[in-house]
Amino acid sequence: MHTDIAIIGGGPAGLQAALSIGRIHRDAVLFDDGTYRNAAVSHMHNVVGNDGTPPEEFRALARKQLTAYDTVSVREERVESVEEADGTFHLRVADGSTVTAYAVVLATGVRDTLPPVPGLEDLWGDLVAHCPFCHGHELSGERVGILGAAIAPHLSAMLDRVASDLVVFTDGEALPDGWDNRPPVLTGRVLSVERRDGGVRVTLDGVDGAQSSEQVAGLFVKPAMTQSAPFAEQLGLELNPSGCVRVDEFGRTSRPGVFAGGDLAHLPAYPMPMASVTMAAAAGQVAASGAIMAVLSR
Ligand SMILES: Cc1cc2nc3c(=O)[nH]c(=O)nc-3n(C[C@H](O)[C@H](O)[C@H](O)COP(=O)(O)OP(=O)(O)OC[C@H]3O[C@@H](n4cnc5c(N)ncnc54)[C@H](O)[C@@H]3O)c2cc1C
Repeated sequence: MHTDIAIIGGGPAGLQAALSIGRIHRDAVLFDDGTYRNAAVSHMHNVVGNDGTPPEEFRALARKQLTAYDTVSVREERVESVEEADGTFHLRVADGSTVTAYAVVLATGVRDTLPPVPGLEDLWGDLVAHCPFCHGHELSGERVGILGAAIAPHLSAMLDRVASDLVVFTDGEALPDGWDNRPPVLTGRVLSVERRDGGVRVTLDGVDGAQSSEQVAGLFVKPAMTQSAPFAEQLGLELNPSGCVRVDEFGRTSRPGVFAGGDLAHLPAYPMPMASVTMAAAAGQVAASGAIMAVLSR
């Protein structure tokens, strides 16, 4: 099977890319293996017109609207590899088939690895989060925890007017130098977190092996982000220091014909992706425009 543009990823970046390509009647196939970054979240926020919408509803509506465009198809399948030969990209799909394309839009997102504290994974996306825009307001007027010394100055400033009070769990890390006007800081190792009384019970290692616990309504952490798919590596794409794919203002990667948008990529001017649904959709549109131009100029 051949298509003009192969889109890998069916989150906001890939869905918007598919819509943009469908709008000008170019052929595209979108692959989606159903592993979304915000899968653990019941409601997304800070998305204009969709503040509080469940992410699966957002994706379902986008998929339904794509059915109006005959040149776009969606395959719920995993792409295993992408190779280029003579300016054409060959995608090997998990079902054994191959799809060729003149351009590729990578929209495969990132994976989060949480700090290794027992219990965090179970509460992730609910009572444990990383982004104050996404999860802050729901904790209004409550006691909120921040796990990690390095992120504490920034996050405590962001949450200052949202939370009634803040507490920082350094988990044994040193605080950044010169941080004044800080909230209370607890320096013990964090042994575990668990859901308790509608919030999070944080258990800390104390002096002489004694344990103590703190109750917060929600907890902010910093996950490590890594590429969720192997295509940047397979295609030898240049990366930013963050580990995300380096793109220019048109979503172009370092390899002609390969475009990227969403959490997996960002401009070199940013330290990390501005990871949000709106930014991912915008980047998907930019990448689609770049891919269309590449196809038109063949
Ligand atoms: C806990 C949490 C809460 C969040 N809350 C919010 C919020 O409230 N508001 C907000 O704006 N943002 C929120 N975000 C951020 C938001 O989820 C991301 O910025 C957004 O989903 C990025 O979109 P994307 O299209 O780049 O990637 P994703 O949405 O992660 O989509 C990646 C796509 O690639 C596909 N894929 C990956 N590999 C393959 C492969 N090999 N073959 C085929 N398909 C593949 C996946 O199946 C998926 O379809 C949150 C993030 C987290 C972690």
